[in-house]
This record gives sequence, structure tokens and C-alpha cells, in this order.
Amino acid sequence: LVVLKSVNKHFGALHVLQDIDLTIARGEVVVVIGPSGSGKSTLCRAINRLETIEDGSITIDGKPLPHEGKELARLRADVGMVFQSFNLFAHKTVLENVTLGQVKVRKKDKKAAEERARALLDRVGVSAQADKYPAQLSGGQQQRVAIARALAMEPKVMLFDEPTSALDPEMINEVLEVMQQLARDGMTMIVVTHEMGFARSAANRVVFMADGRIVEEATPDQFFSNPRSDRAKDFLSKIL
Ligand code: ATP
Ligand code: MG
Repeated sequence: LVVLKSVNKHFGALHVLQDIDLTIARGEVVVVIGPSGSGKSTLCRAINRLETIEDGSITIDGKPLPHEGKELARLRADVGMVFQSFNLFAHKTVLENVTLGQVKVRKKDKKAAEERARALLDRVGVSAQADKYPAQLSGGQQQRVAIARALAMEPKVMLFDEPTSALDPEMINEVLEVMQQLARDGMTMIVVTHEMGFARSAANRVVFMADGRIVEEATPDQFFSNPRSDRAKDFLSKIL
């Protein structure tokens, strides 16, 4: 579904993505881990075309990423993204946050969009907050709204970039549970996270990045019990 071939990117002298080859099948859940600065966020942003790449190719469903305009808006709908910092529209209610894109990009009528929004808010457990503004919600609630907003666009794949890193500990699980359920429902997911419990239970594959490269790819069992590279061993010894 998502195919990256020899993807390269620099930020000035920094070679942030180096010959990245990665294929994600439909329904697959891939957890990306690695030290700070290894290029995990840049990788996610490149798939959503929030960053451009210098060479190599990225395709979704066999199609190269579009460059601009309506095609780009549709790509961003097809590839749902959830960030560390919720990124909700502050001056729109929760319901409006989840309705807006459906009407603008997917051309749904307002009533159908609101119905879908309410169903999704219910699914992520925040239906009681529909008429509030983001600032009136807890971090965990805001992040679940952000997930509902991405899902409202009927994405082909969901990217999560450290979705629980900004949350207080007691709110982490409520977000991880929503993500677990999504994985069980068969959503294709790329998840940057340091939540190893989630990686073990939800991931089909772990991708370990360091210095802009994919150093190791393995099943969670293989990776956590028997990492092959020194970089991965060193990283795991620090976080486990
Ligand atoms: P973290 O775990 O801290 O989130 P990461 O693996 O997500 O790290 P990236 O955010 O992808 O890492 O950044 C990779 C490298 O690229 C870092 O050294 C970062 O400083 C640099 N970088 C990221 N964005 C930019 C930018 N817009 N301009 C210049 N350098 C950047
Ligand atoms: Mg990052």
C-alpha cells in the first residue's frame, strides 16, 4: 500500500533520510522506533508530503505523491496523521473539527458529515465533548478527537508520530487503547512510539532507525528479545 524506494533527504549538511526502502502492506501495523534525531518524524512527514524528498520515490496504492492543490489535499485525507501536539483547530468545536474536512475535501453534505463525526467521537469515547472547544478537553481527550478527525476522512493509512509523548501518564492508555482497537479493525498504521507495550501487542513489524537509516526490521518478538545490531541493543538497553 505504501512503498518507499531509495528515499533520500538532507537538511543542509544533515543527511536525515538515507536510502530508505520500506514497504507497508494493507492492514499492516508498523512501529518505528529509534533515538532522537534519527529521522522518524521526517519519514512520517515525507509520506504525507509535509516534507519533500530529494530522490527516490514514495507511492501510495501505486500512485506517486501529488505535488499541490486538490490532489495534495486528497493525499492528506488518504494519509491521516496524528501528531504529538494534538493540532486541533482551537477556534472550532470538537464536532466541527471532525466535520470540516469531510465537507471541504471529501465533499460530503454537512448532515452526513456530522453523523459520521458523532459516530467516530462515540467510537473514541468522547461523544460527550462534541460541543466543547479543544482547550476545554484533557490531553487524552484532545488526542482521541485528533484520531477521530483523521478517521473521518476515511484514510487508507494512518500515521502516528509519538501520539502519547505529550500526555500525562494516566491518559496514555486511553489513547493507546483506541489505537489498539484501530489495529484490530485492520487499519494500515505507521506508528512512531516509545510505548513498547503497544509495539509488542499491536505491531506486525518493528522498524528501527538510527542516523537517517533503517538499521533493522523484525517482528516485535525478534526485535525485543534478540536485536541484531549494536545500535538497537544500545537503544533498547536505555529504554527498557
Ligand atoms: P525525535 O525522537 O526527537 O522526535 P526524530 O527521529 O523524529 O527525533 P526528526 O524530527 O525526523 O527526528 O529529525 C531528524 C534530524 O533532522 C534532527 O537532527 C533534526 O534536528 C533535523 N531536522 C528536522 N526538521 C528539520 C528542519 N525543518 N530543518 C532543519 N533540520 C531539521
Ligand atoms: Mg520526532
